[in-house]
Amino acid sequence: MSALAYAQPRTGSRPTLTVDLGAVAANTAFLVGRVAGEVMAVVKADGFGHGMVDVARTALAAGATRLGVTSLEEAGRLREAGLRAPVLSWLNPVDADWAAALAHGVDVAVPGRDHLDAVVRAAPGARVHLQVDTGMARDGAAPHRWADLCRAARAAERRGLVRVVGVMGHLACADQPGHPANADGRARFAWAVATARAAGLRPADRHLASTAAALLDPGSHHTLCRVGAGLVGIDPSGTTALRAPLTLTAPLVDVRDVPAGCPVGYGHTWTAPAPTRLGLLPLGYADGLPRTASGRAEVLVRGRRRPVVGRISMDMTVVDLGADGTGAGETVTVLGPGDDGGPTLREWAAWSGTIEHEIVTGLGARLVRTVRPAGPRGL
Ligand SMILES: *Cc1c(COP(=O)(O)O)cnc(C)c1O
Repeated sequence: MSALAYAQPRTGSRPTLTVDLGAVAANTAFLVGRVAGEVMAVVKADGFGHGMVDVARTALAAGATRLGVTSLEEAGRLREAGLRAPVLSWLNPVDADWAAALAHGVDVAVPGRDHLDAVVRAAPGARVHLQVDTGMARDGAAPHRWADLCRAARAAERRGLVRVVGVMGHLACADQPGHPANADGRARFAWAVATARAAGLRPADRHLASTAAALLDPGSHHTLCRVGAGLVGIDPSGTTALRAPLTLTAPLVDVRDVPAGCPVGYGHTWTAPAPTRLGLLPLGYADGLPRTASGRAEVLVRGRRRPVVGRISMDMTVVDLGADGTGAGETVTVLGPGDDGGPTLREWAAWSGTIEHEIVTGLGARLVRTVRPAGPRGL
């Protein structure tokens, strides 16, 4: 705290994000039970906004055997926190600090010759996963470059300059089980592994599936699934009831009674149809409540759903409280598991025209965070 120390209002009287690690543990255990091989806990983007180190530790205690992140910086933070499990980092510029990755025992993905050459030069002996594009045209080597990459990697391996421990791909449409891109992606991956073997490589880790494919497509599991969303209760396949770890609450900082016809908020997009009481929540789109949810979102006040009215602004959101006499100071559930009838992450995603992933990774740094630890044995 700075020299200008303000007395904090009582706990719960600021917008608070609570992370229930017991839910992460239960989701991990469920997913571990559903896949044949290992589960890599993907904890990029601060563990999908749930706290990278907390989610990593919890998932490992509940049966995941590895960790996955995008950048080497994220991998470094896992090592700094004392986590010793295998870590794979798959998204780095050509001039990343490969030597540090090797020193920290971090595996790296190699999507092409430029990356391979840079890794060999900076970190001879590094453990790499060759990454093939299985149909997204996003990351990984294009198929026409794959055989060449495998041959170059094998040549480097023979000279002791690199160890090719894995081959990885990624599916574009795994949340739609009937989509033809899934069979294409699986076939491309099988071809990529066969091509690697033909070049003399023996990648022990072969991984294609993330959460949706882990749940829907056993034929895509190979030796390991990279699971992120599922750990935090998001099931893109819509086929399971995973547990939601997040609860976001906020206090009503003020209330006001308005007459019928009173316009509310920026742009006057909502007008009170009848006399009512409005409540003010001290959070808005800067905290991760999407402005596009204006006019659709609901919150839970004293056990009842109440609509968000007018535009969600940067720091403020207005709720129509109706006429039951709710006063300032009441704690409102903005988002949660929904057991109490309150709004869920899935609803916020629908109200905002986006996916749950974008909501959880957008919940801002201004929120007070509290962590409910997982119990013994992670659950
Ligand atoms: C984010 C990511 C994952 C995890 O995907 P989920 O759908 O969240 O399980 C797996 N693999 C790669 C390459 C990713 O970028």
